[in-house]
Amino acid sequence: MAQRHYAVRAGVLVALDQPLLVLHGGAGVEPGDLTPAEEDAARAALRDALKAGYAKLQAGASSVDAVTAAITVLEDAPQFNAGRGAVFTHDGRNELDTSLMDGASGKAGAAAGLHRVKNPILLARAIMDKSKHVMMVGDGAETFAKEQGIALVDPAYFRVEKRWQQLQKALDEEKKAQASNTPLELPGKAYFGTVGALALDAQGRLAGGTSTGGMTNKRYGRVGDSPIIGAGTWADDRCAVSGTGWGEFYIRSAAAHEICARVRLAGDPLARAADRVINRDIPKAGGDGGAIALGADGSVAFPFNTGGMYRGWIGSDGVPHVAIYKTDALAVPGK
Ligand code: ASP
Repeated sequence: MAQRHYAVRAGVLVALDQPLLVLHGGAGVEPGDLTPAEEDAARAALRDALKAGYAKLQAGASSVDAVTAAITVLEDAPQFNAGRGAVFTHDGRNELDTSLMDGASGKAGAAAGLHRVKNPILLARAIMDKSKHVMMVGDGAETFAKEQGIALVDPAYFRVEKRWQQLQKALDEEKKAQASNTPLELPGKAYFGTVGALALDAQGRLAGGTSTGGMTNKRYGRVGDSPIIGAGTWADDRCAVSGTGWGEFYIRSAAAHEICARVRLAGDPLARAADRVINRDIPKAGGDGGAIALGADGSVAFPFNTGGMYRGWIGSDGVPHVAIYKTDALAVPGK
């Protein structure tokens, strides 16, 4: 096995020259949801995203570049609830949210309520790099995107028939529940998706990003956890997290930050911290979902409490490893 290099930087164990990229495509997938052809297409898109991000890392680019590249591929793939293929709001629109954080500098960019930005993650990047702000929303965010030369598209670009049918089903269920005066079913798995990526570059710097259409049948103007730094995305010098799930619960528990805070303050191993928040605290509060977590030492975790989470990683062997369902085996880096 190749020699591994580590350094202790400001008290943090950091893996050097061992770039790693981890991603998810949402925890809203259950066995039986997809046809074999849809599974193949999703796996192929995950592999493409891993390769695109890893190519950046191999070329010596930063973890921020790798995360941006990987998420752009997932946003373009109609299989995932981000960019093209985003879920629909209650009033039949696509409203996109995103965020990006650079663990080395502590800088972040985020945008919410977008209708026309083709690749929301590129706007998060521009907000982080080119503005004085962290978060911009709606029309103002899109004006800034235009100023920055970021591609805008007709809102019809995001529409995918399968997502439209999911909205019709959700509206129907909602109507029936109201008519019979039964409490509305929990939004649950079929209503979310989201994509996220985390990277550790050759210099041991972490970054994380998340992009989403939110949850099917969300009310106009609803903002979930994905664009909220600390809820859906976090990256610092030792830990990075991207979440997917019922966003209200991720916001209330500051899920992504909470995982990294447990690593930093309580000295919890990354996998335990991620498991506690995702598989204990969030379900206890009534929510569900998953996350990916990556440590500066190269440790990874993929906790989720649904039947599946599109997920994968790529490391020094350059081979993309992907999985969808809970029962799918996924090798772990370095093991
Ligand atoms: N967390 C996202 C939201 O609540 C949904 C998802 O993960 O798919 O907007």
